Amino acid sequence: MSTEIHIIRCLKDNYAFLIADQQTRRATLIDAPEAAPVLAKLAREKLDLGAVLLTHHHWDHVDGLAAILQAHPAPVYGNSKDAARLPALDHAFDPGDTLLDGTCHVLDAPGHTIGHVAFHFPALKALFTADSLMTHGCGRLFEGTAADMFTAIAQFDTLPGDTRIFAGHDYAKANLDFAARFAPDPEALSARQKELPRLAEQGLPTTGTTLASERLVNPYLRTHLPQVAEAAGRAGASPLDVFAEIRSQKDNA
Ligand SMILES: [Zn+2]
Repeated sequence: MSTEIHIIRCLKDNYAFLIADQQTRRATLIDAPEAAPVLAKLAREKLDLGAVLLTHHHWDHVDGLAAILQAHPAPVYGNSKDAARLPALDHAFDPGDTLLDGTCHVLDAPGHTIGHVAFHFPALKALFTADSLMTHGCGRLFEGTAADMFTAIAQFDTLPGDTRIFAGHDYAKANLDFAARFAPDPEALSARQKELPRLAEQGLPTTGTTLASERLVNPYLRTHLPQVAEAAGRAGASPLDVFAEIRSQKDNA
């Protein structure tokens, strides 16, 4: 595989991603939280920009776009549903579309915002989830309902276990502390509790965990399990009700 995924730390705790073709030196940018770190990575890796994909309209995912495009003009892709509040789009897509010569599948992922999408690159076994499914957690429900986010995450959960999840923020530590309340797999929890401080010490990203590993600790992927329902105080409730309960406990944590 001649494709490399670069994880770029932006702002306080955001991530942007460059999917770089090693031969052509062209890269696809996922989200544009901040220009300087993205421009620095493009320069260091001698990459040019082929496309920019936007997951949602929040400022901390788009504010760097203008300055990035000034240096590296490239077509911008975003959800047609959110065209009015996203930066100017060259390609408005709909969830379910495939982009970039069929390499990228757009998955509907509302909940955090109405028009939030995720980008799945099957050949790379990579899913860019931004503020929907996150490392050991999920995003806040600003616009959609718990059912929206539940459905989006259930859809992700049908992907192969070796799919890597690339989230839009580094909330892994806080999410793992919270996840520990909901009967995670004890071995997976303790391994990750040891690993996160080491990653922080070395300045390494926390995102890029596999779906299989998230299934062991991420409560939002485990709402069908009786021990998780019980830990949430909702024994016997439906997975959706358990999901909504956990998300609301996180809002008040
Ligand atoms: Zn957001």
